[in-house]
Amino acid sequence: MPIGFYNLPKAVNETVKKYEPHTEDYKKLMQNYEELYDSFVDIPMYINGKAYRTDHTQRITPPHDHQHPIGRYHKANDYHVDLAIQSALVAKSDWEQLSFERRAAIFLRAAELIAGPYRYKINAATMLGQSKNIHQAEIDACCELVDFLRFNVMYMQQIYQQQPESSSQIWNRLEYRALEGFIYAATPFNFTAIAANLPLCCAMMGNTVIWKPSDHQVYSANIVMEILKEAGMPDGVINMVYGDAEMITDRILVHPEFAGLHFTGSTKVFKELWKKIGANIFSYKNYPRIVGETGGKDFILAHRSCDINVLVSNIIRGGYEFQGQKCSASSRVYIPKSIWATVKPLLIEEIQTLKVGSPDNADNFMTAVIHQKAFDRITNYIEQAKEHSAIDVLTGGNYDSSKGYFIEPVLLETKDPNYISMHEEIFGPIVTVYVYEDDQWDSTLSLVDQTSTYALTGSIIANSPFAIEEATQALTHSAGNLYINDKPTGAVVGQQPFGGGRASGTNDKAGSMLNLLRWVSPRTIKEVQLPTKDYRYK
Ligand code: NAD
Repeated sequence: MPIGFYNLPKAVNETVKKYEPHTEDYKKLMQNYEELYDSFVDIPMYINGKAYRTDHTQRITPPHDHQHPIGRYHKANDYHVDLAIQSALVAKSDWEQLSFERRAAIFLRAAELIAGPYRYKINAATMLGQSKNIHQAEIDACCELVDFLRFNVMYMQQIYQQQPESSSQIWNRLEYRALEGFIYAATPFNFTAIAANLPLCCAMMGNTVIWKPSDHQVYSANIVMEILKEAGMPDGVINMVYGDAEMITDRILVHPEFAGLHFTGSTKVFKELWKKIGANIFSYKNYPRIVGETGGKDFILAHRSCDINVLVSNIIRGGYEFQGQKCSASSRVYIPKSIWATVKPLLIEEIQTLKVGSPDNADNFMTAVIHQKAFDRITNYIEQAKEHSAIDVLTGGNYDSSKGYFIEPVLLETKDPNYISMHEEIFGPIVTVYVYEDDQWDSTLSLVDQTSTYALTGSIIANSPFAIEEATQALTHSAGNLYINDKPTGAVVGQQPFGGGRASGTNDKAGSMLNLLRWVSPRTIKEVQLPTKDYRYK
């Protein structure tokens, strides 16, 4: 046990490297990319620290080069799921009793391994496996993941420091116990950092976890496991399985010791999981914690007072970075008629400069979308738009999946503010603009608020202080993360805690103390120093 109250290193955000071509950083990262591209990684499941392989495997190929195998992973059957549950339950007692300083040391070490020796490798794996360009890989796989680890350790200490008042002869304390049982973390394809953070922040608070990454993120998840091993994570704390998502999930959710779900992914899947947990409620030992962050239909609302260059650049960055595959991507934009004539040609011209291609070319702003199913879904929206009388396709509309799942950035203008692309999450590079009459600012605020069932992120682009204030108030429940004169993407851990309401999720704010509090079950201890020895009131 520690002898003393230790100060942890102050959490600071990891500096984003720029990777200008011809720099050492760029060369080293591309060297890692090429080495991985030319190798074939056989990825096992990890249960109680041991590697498990089966006869059922799935080939991994880069979305931008889908005929080129870079690895395969092994799929679980019932036996592996049960073993993972057992392993988490057995590892629990030692892990939760380990001093928090020792636990913290493992996560802080993992952060330094990612920021240092593993930086290029984890970025390269994210470029290859998820088709992120260099910049998008750096801000996700390296910087955001490092930030989650450093800041959450700091928040963990701050939580433990929150103690109740004591009084004369009475010493009160709060113990922040881990949840009883095990946690299930089911994670999405689109962020290496989010995928790793969901199991890790639960583990940080003393829980043991079964981590089921998305089939389309296993490649970089494998490197996270490699780093955790090197950082000293004990066996059984994080058990990673993959395969049939429904089979794995169903088996986990019927277990009486299931203590919590940490989910990020699509809204429909989250609602299904919630329903299954509800259906099993009489069989659990505890009430499971349910934390889920899901989809978005994120808006940019421009006011006539805005700076047009700010508007144009943030529509492009917010809408098309990572091919629009961010839950926070701005996909519906509201622009007043008085500025549209100026904005429209500039926006089209700028979008047409965006290059689309493989992430190994640093000039490419966009690369491929994640898989065939996504490609088909997105291109179906494009074809529908081409046919629809209310829609003008202002730019884009071409796509090609012969080598990779490439889709040009699409800009639509709609005369119908309730057109499908204004309220459904497409999760691809399609931005729809609705032009409103300047004198309909108030009703446009209601329109922004009411059009979609989601409430994740949104931006107000304006210079008028009155417009900013009116919109901020009118859109109180329209977004969990609201931006003023910025794109609605790119939340930074420690600075803009992230999450949304309504259909978008439970808004438990990843990257903040609020999220970590969901993974503890406090015990209050009252210790009386001069206990009563006589039942009579005197
Ligand atoms: P997804 O819902 O397809 O998958 C998420 C996880 O659920 C994966 O691990 C997957 O294997 C699992 N899963 C899928 N179907 C399942 C089923 N029937 N039963 C049990 N598990 C199942 O999501 P995705 O395509 O990986 O990610 C994109 C989605 O995630 C988008 O909707 C996006 O908005 C959302 N997202 C939200 C946030 C946020 O913070 N709000 C962040 C990132 C992504």
